Amino acid sequence: MPTQLEQQANKLYKQFHHLNWTLDECQISAAQIIEINKLKKEQNAVILAHSYQRPEIMYGVADFIGDSYGLSLAATRTKSEKIIFCSVHFMAETAKILNPQKTVINPVQSGCSLAESITAKDVQNLKKLYPNAPVVCYINTSAQVKAESDICCTSSNAEKIINYLPNKEIIFIPDEFMAKNLQARTTKKLITWNGRCIVHEQFTSEQIKDIKKLYPEIKILAHPECSPSVIHEVDLATGTEGMLNYIEKSQAEKFMLITECGITDRVKTEFPQKKIIGTCFLCPYMKQTTLKNILQALKSPTKDQIIDLDPEISQKAKASLDRMIEITRK
Ligand code: SF4
Repeated sequence: MPTQLEQQANKLYKQFHHLNWTLDECQISAAQIIEINKLKKEQNAVILAHSYQRPEIMYGVADFIGDSYGLSLAATRTKSEKIIFCSVHFMAETAKILNPQKTVINPVQSGCSLAESITAKDVQNLKKLYPNAPVVCYINTSAQVKAESDICCTSSNAEKIINYLPNKEIIFIPDEFMAKNLQARTTKKLITWNGRCIVHEQFTSEQIKDIKKLYPEIKILAHPECSPSVIHEVDLATGTEGMLNYIEKSQAEKFMLITECGITDRVKTEFPQKKIIGTCFLCPYMKQTTLKNILQALKSPTKDQIIDLDPEISQKAKASLDRMIEITRK
């Protein structure tokens, strides 16, 4: 009869051999996974993990895997009062803004090049320069920036929100590439900022053209945080959940995913019959969270790991998120 550790390691190996994990590596993670899942149950906690997290987190301990918007909604729907939010800091903040009564614990307060590119003061200055333009902020921003904005958006609802607003001129922050990609699809004038995702800005149109020459039948999907020249070359520009939905329904066998490697891990694990071609890049912020951090955060969370927001900032930021949710549902 296999031990609990052997069972867990074998389960991981079955899922992760597509990711070239060895049984030894699975055994090392299995011990921590068992301990985390035991503590999680005892504490009636829920673990939410972004799709760019490490596979052992997504498939070993997470109760829900998703994009920033999906995770925030999952945080709202869960009955658990304690949420262990495995992702970068701004996303854990967003979950806390939407769930002020719940305890949100962020094992590692890692940054994000987009969220760090703009401050609340920068938004105030933009508003002075363009007093008649509403501010639409991408969800990859701090609580303070959300609080200064009129409405929030994600990569999947940005176009709908821009077109829903009656204004001809809109301040769209902070992603320069996403704004340019949106500008190509709207008659509104977008005033933007110079923020960039350090992962998605690394892809080039040349990489895509080379792959297309080698695999003419390939389907190429890119995140809207990529440059316009990259977006011009692909079959679909969509967020992480949009990519997974497309792959699940597509009859194609080969895909190139122009995004962070976590999505490649998800496809290889969830759709092992599909073939992923080409390269991906790791987000150094997302990959900071480990099973060890999660275990520590469950055992004895530090003050820094427990998300605590100024109530006024939180309330204003929630208003911009609530507006986004309301318009998205229309
Ligand atoms: S992938 Fe880009 S946008 Fe996402 S957390 Fe990393 S740096 Fe930020």
